[in-house]
Amino acid sequence: MSLDRRSFLVGSAAGGLLLACQRTGKSSSIREIEHVVTAQPSRDGAGVSLRRSIGSGVLPWLDPFLLLDEIHSSDPADYTAGFPQHPHRGFETVSYVLKGGFQHRDSVGNHGLIHDGGAQWMTAGHGIVHEEMPKQTTGTELWGLQLWVNLPATRKMIRPRYQDLSPAQVPELDVEEARVRLVAGRLGSTRGPVDGIDIQPTMLDANLAPRAAFRHDLPGGDTAFAYVLEGDVMFGQQGTHVAAGELAVLGTGTSIVAASETGGRFLLVAGTPIREPVARRGPFVMNTDAELRQAFADYQAGTLTL
Ligand code: FE
Repeated sequence: MSLDRRSFLVGSAAGGLLLACQRTGKSSSIREIEHVVTAQPSRDGAGVSLRRSIGSGVLPWLDPFLLLDEIHSSDPADYTAGFPQHPHRGFETVSYVLKGGFQHRDSVGNHGLIHDGGAQWMTAGHGIVHEEMPKQTTGTELWGLQLWVNLPATRKMIRPRYQDLSPAQVPELDVEEARVRLVAGRLGSTRGPVDGIDIQPTMLDANLAPRAAFRHDLPGGDTAFAYVLEGDVMFGQQGTHVAAGELAVLGTGTSIVAASETGGRFLLVAGTPIREPVARRGPFVMNTDAELRQAFADYQAGTLTL
């Protein structure tokens, strides 16, 4: 880093970041970035172009998180094929749609539209067959994320459960200099609408204005990462820069601090690690290969969802 660059940082957003660090007090410790991975271009479903960070070759798994995909395009050819009927067993899929919409329909009889700031936390449990197809509300821009969250062995075969959230059900709060949408977890006295999830997740979408800073306390033992959606955001006391399309794995500590010189938006996700063996193939995530084979056999026999 050049001297000029360093003095700019000290005088601007990093100043806010240092202030945010100081505000955390002596009893807290700041999570620094352990490493940064760049989301990898990939295709899934019936031919949807996406960028995969967790679940890619560079970061196969970040216990308890199994996958993170970002779809963002204004070209319908990138997403129209969608995700036609497919099964899941043994984990949870979380959809968060920033722009545009996804129509979903499943074997349990649920159907609906996740759109424009809405979310869905789906616990597949013992089995569900569903489809997720793009359905635009206005314009052609589609921007959404899908996160896969593992279930512990004792809970892999529970009954499927849906938590569907309209955009209005996701609280939007001004915290310090950030505008934050809270899908899951706690922010001050506000609780995110998702509940009853084993890993006790935090999931928030923070939008920082230029030169803004944001601090958030998280349980020290949680796995935590930040995925930058727009702009450029610095994390930790060291102020490491993370750009849009990059995922920062955050190390141990009780607080995260973020700041931006030019403005930025990121998704912060945290949850309790499960610390069990993972056997995964395609749409199934179990603990052993035998359980995986059983999942495929049940799907073929038509008994996965029974
Ligand atoms: Fe799915």
